[in-house]
Amino acid sequence: MASLSVIVPLLNERESIPELIDQLYLAMEEPELRTLFPDPFSFEIIMVDDGSTDGSNRVIEGLIDSRPELRLISFQRNFGKTAALSAGFMAATGEYLCTIDADLQDDPFAIKTLLKKLMEGYDLVSGWKQNRKDPLSKTLPSKLFNTVTRLFTGITIHDFNCGLKVYRSEVTRRLELHGDMHRYIPVMAEWMGFKITELPVAHRARQFGTTKYSSARFLPGLFDFLSVLFITRYLRRPMHFFGMAGLGSFLLGFAISLYVTLDKILLHKPVSNRPILFLGILLLILGVQLFSTGLLGEMLSTSASKGSSFTVRKTMNLTTGQAAAIGGADSVRG
Ligand code: UDP
Ligand code: MG
Repeated sequence: MASLSVIVPLLNERESIPELIDQLYLAMEEPELRTLFPDPFSFEIIMVDDGSTDGSNRVIEGLIDSRPELRLISFQRNFGKTAALSAGFMAATGEYLCTIDADLQDDPFAIKTLLKKLMEGYDLVSGWKQNRKDPLSKTLPSKLFNTVTRLFTGITIHDFNCGLKVYRSEVTRRLELHGDMHRYIPVMAEWMGFKITELPVAHRARQFGTTKYSSARFLPGLFDFLSVLFITRYLRRPMHFFGMAGLGSFLLGFAISLYVTLDKILLHKPVSNRPILFLGILLLILGVQLFSTGLLGEMLSTSASKGSSFTVRKTMNLTTGQAAAIGGADSVRG
């Protein structure tokens, strides 16, 4: 049975919720969406309340009786959008997933367009708020963030952090999110070998409530980027990073020390009174330290990693046990 799980992370969005849920239901019942899936088709809408204090919870609870597809996960306190999405991904039962912001800024009727693109053979289709309806204080830092991320990752999408995205469940099951890493979901997905693309979507100005993100949040975002870089690129091969840096530092230190030593032997220059000697020594020690950190990392990752260093697209003729052993029994798709 084809099924779609819509995940809505929300923090203090009381006024928007009833309208959003109405629109989502209309969007789910649209023929254009239904024709994308073979019958029977089912959907669920998972509202993840990320510690709202404005009664968003009660609003959803009030709607659940008349809406059997509606689910609610309420956090004990505010854990952040990444955690909310993560909980939604874990709870989702659909083979297709969709995330959408709760503030009505994303258009629920764009879901079908994104899904249609997904069906062309993508694993993740991200919305692109081409004409973003937000104040300059948001759009400007966001442009900067997107440009930097594009530059560093080589991934050519324009809007990494769009709330509206559709996924195959293979992708969301593999994502391990923490910090504020939801901004880097396309990066992680691409680096795991999934096929990603983007599609322009309409964007609306915020009608109710206030934004939960000020531009002050962009510095922590940088650290998240470094984490993402490490987790996706180097977690399984720390030596590639530490070994390189260590080797570079060691060689430079060695060259400096050699130069000072040769000066002493051949030209009888005194070794004392040569500040550069300290740099040489520093680089030598640093090099050894970086190198051994890399070795330790290798040892840790070898003993800790079980199967998640790859992403399986397809298997044939495996027993259930074999498939489970490679950690992707049901993630196999033809
Ligand atoms: N959100 C959340 N937890 C948070 C912050 C935000 O679940 O800690 C939700 C928020 O309710 C909204 C979405 O994440 O549904 C995007 O947040 P917002 O609209 O404030 O961001 P903006 O569109 O201004 O970038
Ligand atoms: Mg918003």
